This record gives sequence, structure tokens and C-alpha cells, in this order.
Amino acid sequence: MNILFFGPNGSGKGTQGAIVKDKYNAAHIESGAIFRDNIKGGTELGKQAKEYIDKGELVPDEITIPMILDRLKQDDCKVGWLLDGFPRNKNQAIKLDEALKAENMSLDIVVEILLDRQIAKDRIMGRRLCANDNNHPNNIFIDAIKPDGDKCRVCGGDLSKRADDQDEGAIDKRHGIYYDADTGTLAAAYYFKDLAAQGGSIKYITLDGAADIKSVTAELISKL
Ligand code: AMP
Repeated sequence: MNILFFGPNGSGKGTQGAIVKDKYNAAHIESGAIFRDNIKGGTELGKQAKEYIDKGELVPDEITIPMILDRLKQDDCKVGWLLDGFPRNKNQAIKLDEALKAENMSLDIVVEILLDRQIAKDRIMGRRLCANDNNHPNNIFIDAIKPDGDKCRVCGGDLSKRADDQDEGAIDKRHGIYYDADTGTLAAAYYFKDLAAQGGSIKYITLDGAADIKSVTAELISKL
């Protein structure tokens, strides 16, 4: 299965993407993670990408598109792949579509997690990290996982904020790119939604991202 996964920062895209990847045993290709690995490894690509990533801007298409298209040709992708974080704009979507056709590769499923922009922002800014275990869910804006006062709701541990979760300007910039339905990430998603509507082989699935994690997973499983 070849899969695209769309969802704004704060929508639980990572969690739900991992479930789909496991179900189909697909290679998980996360553009942001590839850039981070390259930055850590001090590669030329990493150096080029860092200057944009630090500003919260997209890495230019001339760098990103060949990087991802080359990655799709690697052996582990033969059983299937899940792309997460790419395409991020309409141009990337068009170039991906062209490359898939040229390589005779199918696109089987596109998942879009729907979430109101303000809710996505609150989720990120409300996130709190437990000193004992990062996986303990705590969010001051989500009733189901509200901390116990200023302590972790699971273990009573001390809570802190992730610095980048509190950078409102950076969050707005990222969401500005995501929610731009003319040229941004939603435009990329809608490009494939249109193809699916034209009767191609693509299955386009939308999920209600405002629900709790378990409900989103249940909706996802039922629609796959
Ligand atoms: P992410 O981990 O997906 O939030 O990505 C982190 C950063 O990597 C983004 O803010 C961008 O600067 C860059 N990036 C990731 N994917 C792409 C893409 N498809 N096109 C351009 N830049 C990207």
C-alpha cells in the first residue's frame, strides 16, 4: 500500500500515521525526520535545510522534491510506503503525481485529519511534559487529559512546557502553510482529493481530528 498522510501540527498525525504504517508494514518516510537526521549528521543537505527549518519556512522544492522521490525508489519502499510531511504544497503534489506516473507506482490511500486551526493551536500550546515519562498525556486545554493541578495526571510528576510548543509565531507560521488551501498543504491534499473524485484508484479518507485519540483511531481503522 502506498499512502499519503495529511494533518496539521497538533492533530495526532504521528500517532495515527504509525498505526497505518504498522497495519500495512509500509516504509515510513517522514520528510522532517530526514532533514533532522541530515542536520545531526552534518551533511551538505542538512546544512542547506537548517537555515529554512530554523525560520519555520519550507525547505525549497529544489532540495525537498528530489530527496523524497529518490527515497521512494529505495528497496524498503517496494512493499509500500507512507509519506508523512510530504507533499507540503501544491507544487510538491503535482511533482509527486508526475513521478508516480512515470515510475508506474500507484497511490492507494490518502488520509486527511480534519481539525480546526484554533483547536490545533490550543493543543500544541496546552501540551505539558511529565518529568517521569514523556508519554504521559497532559494538556491543559483538553478535558480528557487535563493535568492534576500543576502535576502529571498519570503519576503526579512535575510538568514542564516544550519551548517550541510555546512559540506562538512559529506555530502560526506552520499552520499558515498547512491551512493554505490555494498553494499550501491543504492545496496538496485537495489535489489528490480531486483525483480521487475523478474516479481514479485513490481512496480518500477524512478523519474527525477533534475527537480523542482512541476515537480517531477507531474511525481510521473502520475506514481503511
Ligand atoms: P516536520 O517535522 O514535518 O514538522 O518538519 C520540520 C521542518 O522540515 C518543516 O518546518 C520544514 O522546514 C521542513 N520540511 C519538512 N517537510 C517538508 C516539505 N515537504 N517541504 C519543505 N520543507 C519541509
